[in-house]
Amino acid sequence: MRILVLSDIHANLPALEAVLKDAGTFDHIWCIGDVVGYGPHPNECIALLNSYDHLCVAGNHDWAVLGKLDLHDFNLDARKATLWTQKKLSEPAREYLEKLQVRLQHDEFTIVHGSPREPIWEYILLTSTATTSFSWFQTPYCFIGHTHSPAIFQEVTNDVSVSTRCLNIQFDEPVTLGDERLIINPGSVGQPRDGDARASYIMLDLEKRTFVYHRTVYPVSSTQAHMRDCHLPDRLITRLAHGW
Ligand code: ZN
Repeated sequence: MRILVLSDIHANLPALEAVLKDAGTFDHIWCIGDVVGYGPHPNECIALLNSYDHLCVAGNHDWAVLGKLDLHDFNLDARKATLWTQKKLSEPAREYLEKLQVRLQHDEFTIVHGSPREPIWEYILLTSTATTSFSWFQTPYCFIGHTHSPAIFQEVTNDVSVSTRCLNIQFDEPVTLGDERLIINPGSVGQPRDGDARASYIMLDLEKRTFVYHRTVYPVSSTQAHMRDCHLPDRLITRLAHGW
């Protein structure tokens, strides 16, 4: 069973299409939230995702578009993009977002957008936050998104202590699912923030018990042109070319 794990599509259809093409064959998609927000194609991205056998959890932008979050917690550009998305969202897309749960569990995997402690808002950027997070899920592994940066945190246990280390990400190299518990972030499809503009995703192979990080180029200028047509904020348009 091959599972395409992706997060933070952010209504960027060219990026999502590129990932689906680059991924080749797979059996399911696990989507870790923020399908919409920032980008110009909220309805199209939801429709495309919905055409695949998939599961998806809610992210903070998905909730914001539904009016479930106070927009004052967003920066000005994110707020403007959310208000635009609210106007643009089709009824089927709204119904899709309304049904998303904030936390899912699938065999050995917990799936949340932010963190297992606070699935909508908490960012796991630091090993200290990851250390706390390990006590908030029971499965061996947890997939998260929200930071838009690929990351693997490993819980290291010995007779006297428990600690967390951050593993180096090697693209296109399999990582084995072993005895140590992991928190795994696939990075972002539609708005990477790790200095690499390419869309990021993971291919998980449950038979081989491995997962592999991949990056793929997509036509950034096409997304940017659509964003300009929609009068979305300049800063959101510019950042896509730089991956920040
Ligand atoms: Zn996001």
